[in-house]
Amino acid sequence: MIDFENGIHIKETGLWLDARRKADFCFVSHAHTDHAVRHAEILCTRETARLCEHRFGKAKFNILEYNRPKRLKGAKVQLFPSGHVLGGAQILIEKGGTRIVYTGDFKLRRSLTAKKAEIKKCDILIMESTFGLPRYLFPHPREVQAQMTEFVKDAQAKERIPVFLAYSLGKAQEAMKILSNRGFKLSLHGTIYNIAKIYEEFGIKFRDYQLYQADNLEGRVVIAPPAVMRSGMIENMPRKRTAILTGWAVDPEVKDYYGVDEAIPLSDHADFSELFQYVKIARPQKVYTVHGFPDFVRFLREEGFDAEPLKESTKAKTAFSKELLTNYELFA
Ligand SMILES: [Zn+2]
Repeated sequence: MIDFENGIHIKETGLWLDARRKADFCFVSHAHTDHAVRHAEILCTRETARLCEHRFGKAKFNILEYNRPKRLKGAKVQLFPSGHVLGGAQILIEKGGTRIVYTGDFKLRRSLTAKKAEIKKCDILIMESTFGLPRYLFPHPREVQAQMTEFVKDAQAKERIPVFLAYSLGKAQEAMKILSNRGFKLSLHGTIYNIAKIYEEFGIKFRDYQLYQADNLEGRVVIAPPAVMRSGMIENMPRKRTAILTGWAVDPEVKDYYGVDEAIPLSDHADFSELFQYVKIARPQKVYTVHGFPDFVRFLREEGFDAEPLKESTKAKTAFSKELLTNYELFA
């Protein structure tokens, strides 16, 4: 019934889920580039459609609001919030009495910029499990926010410009909200600035931010995508302190990999305990994992769940690695 080849295919319905190659009709869970491809027709939320359009231009969007069931391709489908980024959705597909949920990327912790995730009971659960090892337990959001504030105050006390590296869709806007709520003035890389404007179209407003200007950084906090770390923008900036915002901050190698002063675990993904909590609440008869460590599947089996990876894509990976960062997990 469920196939994996460059994306998830629910064969009975002809429906693809986050396919990586162009498909005729595909559900796109959110607008991160590893999930969003310009398919012939895209099923998604209004926010995701807007973000996709910003990234790759016009396409045929079949827009569905959260929690509005619709008959589609001989099945009943319903989107509901994933808590991951603006517009992020999970999908429930009901066909012949079987309830299939695909989570896409999700987190259960509260976010300041994404709708809180919901969990629905299902028979088959297809879930992302990026941080499915017991050592990936993220601190409470308040503690992460305190670490970010501390980092800024410490840098400014030493007359250095604080620079946060955060992926341009989602993570950066969450950082903007955290920092601007605390009264810090922001200077943003262009890709982050443009996406922040789209967040504002959907009612998520930010205070005191401007487009990055090299000669106007006094008293400001810079937010830039991680790829910019080795560019002139950051390299030519005198007297700075840099911090990467990522769930991989739990692994000590991350600081060296990016060449940053700090790594702070602000993540858009579920940690190990949230992944397990999700499965316990959804109570599926079958769990398929995507994007994860084989150990998480083993763990679920030991806990009595019938689990298997939909694709053995991350065999033998047990920790953070450069290889890991070259693909999907970059967005974590
Ligand atoms: Zn994502």
